[in-house]
Formats: sequence, structure tokens, C-alpha cells
Amino acid sequence: MSVPKAAAGRSAELRRALDQASYEYYVLDRPAMADREYDMLFRELQEIEREHPELRTPDSPTMRVGAEPATTFAKHTHLVPMISLANAFSNDEIAEWETRAVKIAGPAVQKNGYSAELKIDGAAVSLTYRDGVLVMGATRGNGAVGEDVTANLRTIREIPLRLRGDATDHPPLIEIRGEVYFPFDAFEKLNEERTKAGEPVFANPRNSAAGSLRQQDPAATAARPLRFFGYAYAVPGAKSLPFETQSELLKTLSSWGIPTAPHHKHCRTLAEVNAYAHSIESKVRAELNFGIDGIVVKVDSLALQAELGDAGREPRWAIARKFAADIAETKLIAIEVNVGRTGKINPYAVLEPVEVGGTTVSRATLHNYELVKQKDLREGDIVLLKRAGDVIPQVIGPVPEKRDPKHPPPVPKIPTNCPACGTKVRASEKDLFCDNDYCEGRRLEAIVHFASRGAMDIDGLSYARIEQLLEAGLIHDVADLYELDEARITSLERFAEKSAQSLVEAIADSKKQPLSRLLFGLGIRHVGSEAAALLARNFGTLDSIAKASADDVEAVHGIGPTIASSVHEYFRDARVLKLIERLRASHLTFIEPTRASSGDAFKGLTVVITGTLPTLSRPEAKAVIQDAGGRVTDSVSKATSLLVVGADAGSKLDKAKELGITVIDEAELLRRLGK
Ligand code: NAD
Repeated sequence: MSVPKAAAGRSAELRRALDQASYEYYVLDRPAMADREYDMLFRELQEIEREHPELRTPDSPTMRVGAEPATTFAKHTHLVPMISLANAFSNDEIAEWETRAVKIAGPAVQKNGYSAELKIDGAAVSLTYRDGVLVMGATRGNGAVGEDVTANLRTIREIPLRLRGDATDHPPLIEIRGEVYFPFDAFEKLNEERTKAGEPVFANPRNSAAGSLRQQDPAATAARPLRFFGYAYAVPGAKSLPFETQSELLKTLSSWGIPTAPHHKHCRTLAEVNAYAHSIESKVRAELNFGIDGIVVKVDSLALQAELGDAGREPRWAIARKFAADIAETKLIAIEVNVGRTGKINPYAVLEPVEVGGTTVSRATLHNYELVKQKDLREGDIVLLKRAGDVIPQVIGPVPEKRDPKHPPPVPKIPTNCPACGTKVRASEKDLFCDNDYCEGRRLEAIVHFASRGAMDIDGLSYARIEQLLEAGLIHDVADLYELDEARITSLERFAEKSAQSLVEAIADSKKQPLSRLLFGLGIRHVGSEAAALLARNFGTLDSIAKASADDVEAVHGIGPTIASSVHEYFRDARVLKLIERLRASHLTFIEPTRASSGDAFKGLTVVITGTLPTLSRPEAKAVIQDAGGRVTDSVSKATSLLVVGADAGSKLDKAKELGITVIDEAELLRRLGK
């Protein structure tokens, strides 16, 4: 059969594009193409080659792993080649993979189940241990030959220089494979520093890990907080080993002192694998401080793995289920500004809509102009955008190569006047402020905050509706909300009688919200929900807070001088007092309901809550613990006394178990409170 010219041309074109991308990705550690785009082009080439095998060249990217090792490092030949993984982008593709494996190795594949693991977005390395001592550390390189980066790997503190246990516990020669990764918080810091120094930002933690690992000076690597997770091994010849399955291997690695990634799971069926993938992508991913780009499913039995073997650059016994990219490239159409409720001028990016972290993003906050300047963002730039789980989308920085050097877009102008009311702005540290208390822009955000879920929680009073009510002149401040009537609302466009009625009801309902929420909703500078709760509990009424001196406020345990003086100042403003009187006339709750005292069952204890509790909401659970004298914090550490767990608990539970922290459920929590 003759090969159509179009296929031949396209495959050559794809090979060129993929080769160039790989070079930029692996050798320069500076990708010029988004991973998803690379994966799609790679697939297209694979498909053409499958249909026309005669087009497959020995140097095709589909036949190779990684990139040639750089000449600056000594070369290291791996005991057994380090290969890549096939990718699946759907549950169906995982099912096809299982079918193929069962065809080769029989139903035993299904009987023994699978090891499901996080797919760490780092740089693959192999660590050679001879008689338990680390003698070599190398990058994956082209799979067969990598770069000797032993000196750099030695700087990673958690990589043991000697395996734990007796000499008889480990094979005399073993390569332990795993991933060097760069934690998110450190990645962000590194990119900030690189931006300041005028260096290009790293596109993702993986490239920063790979780049850091290939520093010529080990001191430069040591300065970067690299971490390591192990997940595979290689030994010369067939040896008897202290593990028979991938799950056991992970346990053994831990016992040797090699860190392994959290959340690995033995799954009995593909349905369990799919549920695992879903839970990792939708919940766990957002909690992790390191990047993952999917999960890896492996046939658990090592004997079956050997039977299945490899197909070129990919093992037949494992497959990666990739997640939606959490870093994407898009165009920064414009930099616009809004005014926050405190008067802060917030620049934000208007972006060409792009899929990232599972949702379409078209806007992202830019925080302040200092950052816009630091990142050198310009309207029209192609930028890298990051979003993981529930995290707010973030513009990492521009892709400088994609800026036309002859006609670079102009540097954005920093506003000198408030975009909403025209008042001259005031600069304070990195931020700009509009000081006009009656600024339209501020008013909108203030009412939005008042109605928000954490404050008065007024159902149906969305951002757009508040905007509409303000524009129609029906409201000017939060007190006006309680004076609204159905007839006036119904006169507005897009307001049916029914929705006007429910809105008025929801507003009336919010009058019952406790004082702590009202206090938070008022938007007093520096007073978050926690401080508001403390003030309400300690003073009992709004009037006593309003009358209190700054010293009285500061005397509340947990309130510092900044909050105290802000609260005191707030209630000295005649306009505020007038607003308060109008709210009083509308019968809002000015007294904190006296809760039956829970005693001090949690006195002196630091408590963390994770997962969904059966009856208490997160703020309710927090409040009852605080009422009983406990302190509630967000992350599990050695200082944690108790972990309260609900359904779908994530990594916090693992960490607590690791640290030997007492774990209780909601029933036990209530029991300890005497409820
Ligand atoms: P990969 O990253 O898709 O998957 C294989 C690798 O996953 C393994 O080699 C291993 O290092 C790693 N891994 C992480 N956790 C693991 C675990 N628990 N068990 C086993 N392995 C685990 O493949 P690759 O060959 O390293 O890289 C190819 C990918 O790189 C492409 O799919 C593409 O997304 C990206 N790439 C991008 C560009 C670009 O220009 N953007 C260029 C080249 C490659």
C-alpha cells in the first residue's frame, strides 16, 4: 500500500515540532509549548505511524524517552532502561489498557488488582545503592543513558546516603527510581526571585526541579528545596526480593528510609481506580504542596509485570491517567481594575478563555501594580496561567519568547486616579487605595461582602444583582437592603415577581444572623470572621463593642493592636453610627445569642478539622471547639492535639496518622462537649 503524501508530510512535520519542543523542555528546561498541546501532537504522530508503520523512523519521538544527556555531565548507563508511560485521557482508555493486559497475561491481572499512585510532576532520577550505600544518582536522560548528578542529588536531605536496616535487608546492588520534585510554595518563591533578577520564569515545578538538578554547582542545587519520592526499582538479573507486588515495594522503600508519595492505594477493580482518580483530581490535588499531572495505575503483581513487559518506550503493565492541565498558556487581553471594599485598587487580567485545572478561566487577579511591574506583564502578552483544584487562578508570568521583539506591547500605565470615582489614589506599600468612603466602586464590593456566605449569607443576592440594585439607585448602602420592597424590585429588568419575593424574604431572614456575622459583614478593616467571632463573644453586644476603648478591645485574647485600633476608629465615625442606627431600626441581631457554655473540654488543645462532618458545617464545628477553649488551625503538625475527621478526608488524615495524633469523628467531638 502506498503511503499518502499528506501523511508522510504531516508525520515529518510532527516529528520536527515534537523534537524541537522536547529539546526546549528537557535540555533547556524552558518549554515553549503547553504539555497538553505536546501530548495531542504526540498522539497524532502515534496514530499516523500506527496506520503507516513504514513512516516510523528510528529517531521518531514515539520511539524515544526524554532527551540525550547533556555533554557537561558524565554519562551513566542505567542497569535497566528508565522508560516513560503511556497516557490515558479517559476511563475508556484505561479500560482498553486493562483489556490488552488481560489478553496477554490472562485474568490473573484482574485478580491481583492494581496499585494506584500519584503521578508526581517532577524529574525522574535513579539512585544506585551498593551494599546499602548511595554510590550514584542520575537523571533519566534518553532512558538508556542519563547524566551523573550524584553531587547534586546528595544535597537533597531526604535521600538517604545509606539505606536503613541491615545489609541483609536489601539487595547488594539496586537502583531506586523516583521523582525529584519542587514544592509549590518554593516554586512560587523561586519564580518571584527569577522575575526580580530579570530571568525567565520556570513554566512548572517539573522544569524547575529538572533545572535545579542539572546545576553545575552543587551549592546552587542545595539552595533549592528539592524533595524526592521513590516508586520503582531495578536490579541486575533475576534476584529474590523482599517484595512481590508494587504495593509491597512501596512499603519496603519506606522501611529503607526512602520517602514515598502519600495517597497510594491498592485497588481491586478498575471502578476503584476510576473513583480514586476522581477523588485525587477533585479533592486531594488542591491540598498538595507539589504538582501532580495525573495518577499512575500499575498491575500490582511484579511477576505479572515481568510477564507483560514493555512495548518500546512504555511498559504494558502501567499507564498514566492524565488530569486536566493545571498550567496553561493564554493571551492577556487587557489589564483592568476594580476597587475593593477597603478602597484597594485591584488590577486583574482579562484573559482569552482557557481550560485550566478543569475549568474555563477568563479572569485572574493580579493583586497589585507592583506585581504587574515585577512580572513585566503587558496587554497582548502570551502568559502562563496556573490553577490547581480550588485555588484562585494565577498568572505566573509572560512567555517572553512569544513577545514580538520589534513591537513589544507598551508597559501598562499605573492609575493615578480611582477608576470608579476619580479621586486621586494613595500609595501604601505595594498597594494603591481610593480613600473616598462614598466611592461607587467601594460601595459595590462592600455590599457584596456583607451579603456573602461567610457574612450575612443572603441567598440570591448575587454580585450582578447588587450591581443592578445600585445602578437603579434602589440601594446605596447595606442598611438600604432592609428597606427594599418587592414592588420596587419587580420594576427592575430580569426580576420576576417570584424572585423579588424570595430575595426580600432572604434579606429579612438574614436579620437573624448572629452578631459575629453582622460584625464581619460590616467590613471593618482587618476584622475577619475569626476576629468578629471573638469580639462578639467577648463583648456580647454591638453597643459595648462600639463603646469600647482601643485598650478594651485589645484586651480580648487573640486580638492585636492593629485590629483594636481599627475597630475603635470605625465606631468613632458619625456616618457609621448613623448606619448602625438604621440597622437597629430594621431589627438586626445586635446581641450574640448566649450559647449554653460548653465548658472547657478543649482548653489548651490545638484542633484541626478535615473532610465533611455529618451534621456540623465547618464554621459550626470551629465555633463549638473555640467555645470550649480550643484553638482551630488549618494544617496538621506536631503541635496538633486532635484531628476531627469527616467523610473524604485527605492528606491531613495521613499526616496525623504519621505523627501519631489522636483522630476523632463528629460523634466523639459532640460527646466530649457533653452534647
Ligand atoms: P510522563 O511525564 O507523561 O510520564 C512518565 C513519567 O512519569 C515517568 O518517567 C516518571 O518520571 C513519572 N512518574 C511520576 N510519578 C510516577 C509514579 N508514581 N510511577 C511511575 N512513574 C511516575 O512522560 P515523560 O516521558 O517523562 O514526559 C513526556 C511528557 O512530558 C509529555 O506527555 C508532555 O506532557 C511533556 N513534554 C512536554 C513538552 C513541551 O514542550 N511542553 C515537551 C516534551 C515533553
